[in-house]
Amino acid sequence: MTLALAEIPVSELKGVGAALELKLHNLGIRTLQDLLFHLPLRYQDRTRILPIGSLRPGDECVIEGEVKLADISKGRRRSLLCRIQDGTGSLTLRFFHFSAAQKNNLRPGVRLRCFGEARAGANGLEIVHPEYRRVDSDELVPVEEHLTPVYPTTEGLHQNRLRSLTDQALEYLKRGALQELVPESLRQGWQFPGLDDAMQYLHRPPVDANQPLLLEGMHPAQRRLAFEELMAHHLSLLKLRQKTREKGAPELPGDGSLKRAFLDALPFPLTGAQSRVADEVAKDLSQAFPMLRLVQGDVGSGKTVVAALAAIQSVESGLQAAVMAPTEILAEQHYHNFSQWLEPLGVKVAWLAGKLKGKQRQAQLELIRSGEARVVVGTHALFQEEVVFSDLGLVVIDEQHRFGVHQRLSLREKGRNGKLAPHQLIMTATPIPRTLTMSAYADLDCSVIDELPPGRTPVSTVVIADSRRDQVIERVRSACAEKRQVYWVCTLIEESEALQCQAAEVTEQQLAEALPELRIGLVHGRMKPAEKAEVMGRFKAAELDLLVATTVIEVGVDVPNASVMIIENPERLGLAQLHQLRGRVGRGSVESFCVLMYHAPLSNQGRQRLAVMRETTDGFRIAEKDLELRGPGEVLGTRQTGVMQFRMADLQRDSDLLTRVKTLAGQMQAWPDHAEALVERWLGRGEDYGNV
Ligand code: ADP
Ligand code: MG
Repeated sequence: MTLALAEIPVSELKGVGAALELKLHNLGIRTLQDLLFHLPLRYQDRTRILPIGSLRPGDECVIEGEVKLADISKGRRRSLLCRIQDGTGSLTLRFFHFSAAQKNNLRPGVRLRCFGEARAGANGLEIVHPEYRRVDSDELVPVEEHLTPVYPTTEGLHQNRLRSLTDQALEYLKRGALQELVPESLRQGWQFPGLDDAMQYLHRPPVDANQPLLLEGMHPAQRRLAFEELMAHHLSLLKLRQKTREKGAPELPGDGSLKRAFLDALPFPLTGAQSRVADEVAKDLSQAFPMLRLVQGDVGSGKTVVAALAAIQSVESGLQAAVMAPTEILAEQHYHNFSQWLEPLGVKVAWLAGKLKGKQRQAQLELIRSGEARVVVGTHALFQEEVVFSDLGLVVIDEQHRFGVHQRLSLREKGRNGKLAPHQLIMTATPIPRTLTMSAYADLDCSVIDELPPGRTPVSTVVIADSRRDQVIERVRSACAEKRQVYWVCTLIEESEALQCQAAEVTEQQLAEALPELRIGLVHGRMKPAEKAEVMGRFKAAELDLLVATTVIEVGVDVPNASVMIIENPERLGLAQLHQLRGRVGRGSVESFCVLMYHAPLSNQGRQRLAVMRETTDGFRIAEKDLELRGPGEVLGTRQTGVMQFRMADLQRDSDLLTRVKTLAGQMQAWPDHAEALVERWLGRGEDYGNV
């Protein structure tokens, strides 16, 4: 191999001093390889001079013409207006900042070549602050030979500068110095162009390049790189998974004694899906490396029973199991279920939450430390330092969704027990589209409970404008008269929790005035956990008819008699969240209703999203739609944190590549050096997941 571009620092290039080097570093560019993998966002066409008469607003173009008029306009903002004409039409060049010399140069009769975006102005098309130069009519000024790349950049780093640097890097490329990291035997049957050709093409596309294809990201050169990038991500997750497997875990084969008694006592048989997933989990637990399994199951699919079976297997094998829920309400519900199921079998269940104080807390901590408690249920309080497990074998995390790789890792570290890491079972009711399980969650094993217990009646959903609020209130009145219970969910677009809670308080007062005969409760995020739990408890015990709430009730509460839900401003919530909220009703045998009361006018996307909610109650279809409408960043909740951001790939557009990516990434593990170099190429050295 000649010089490897990954080894040559950008400071080798002409014109790169300390200041520029720093700016490049800020863009993550240290080597010539980095520079080449800093790919254009889009392109400009400066290869042709377009007739002015052919332009439409929005066109980015080169034009050439003669100045007819140049004048300073003293409208709302002082500007220099320059009219130019080319025989097919005319347009205005507009400058808000200009010098006297500039004005003098733009005299009538002068020929100009300009580049910029044509926009609709007050008097026909105009270009604001075009790039321009004088040309003499007998002079032949060449146009560009390639489409002009536009790179992602940072303050003070000009496109022209980036273009001249990539020009130099592409010169190196001609000497054949970018390494193909995917081994040749794996590239058999590949339709993609070679790496060097793809690079050359994407940095300097030829005049006849198919621009719409490039804009869509569907050019073979782009697909080649997208494929490589997806592979790099996949490999980094495989590495993470491998690191996990290198850690030991206690083997928990179980002997089936408790399990049999538990299933016998259960008032219902498991669904087919529950049995299948429980078996998958059981197999993982008997291995000597930590299970890391995600169980997805729609709301009400019966995940708790599967969690209980896992805990039982740990107990049978002589080790403790911990079950963690995200809220106290939910943790308490689990504690109730688990102790009812397990204590008759002689299994002691402990309980820990933030609100438990003093002697009671000490008593529970002692049960956990001594090992007398075999199953421990609680909130994240379980991960506090003062909690010492005697012999933890399994951690079940319920309703954990929207978390990134790093959060997953830190949870695992917290659950660590000596040299051995506990097994981890993660449950979520937020279905994750397949595209994402194959990419963002590639380090986890996934199981899906894709069947609801028999006898459920699906929720009917109606979409209504809030101008019909009075009718909705009447509906609540009649539902409560039939002894049904109702949720009324308030949402606000403001991030501020204070405002959300305020809105819920106001709504509660209004509803209390309109419906004086009803017993109404309120829960919101600013109430103390104990207060919240108290109100929820009364609602559960049917001492309240109507519960006004913010979206805090999103997760997990089970009140089978509640069969009507009103959601205000549903257009402000993601589909997954709406689905989750709606899952609070439809848990009993009576028919349930969900009323989505939107505020007009709805955006086009808003209308589509509500239509999806009306048409289906299938969580997976909703998740796929959500991904389609909002994109992976929003769905994963990681847009801000930068997890799963790609340079070239687009999970949606390139989802057809994922199966191949997965296969090849698996095979590529036979070339560990190449695999590592590929991860470094796309994710940089900083993203060494394995060392977290
Ligand atoms: P989720 O998956 O939302 O956590 P749960 O575990 O809370 O669901 O179960 C929802 C309800 O369904 C509970 O009341 C539970 O007792 C009941 N259930 C679970 N499995 C079955 C089954 N196989 N047959 C009938 N009912 C079931
Ligand atoms: Mg649950």
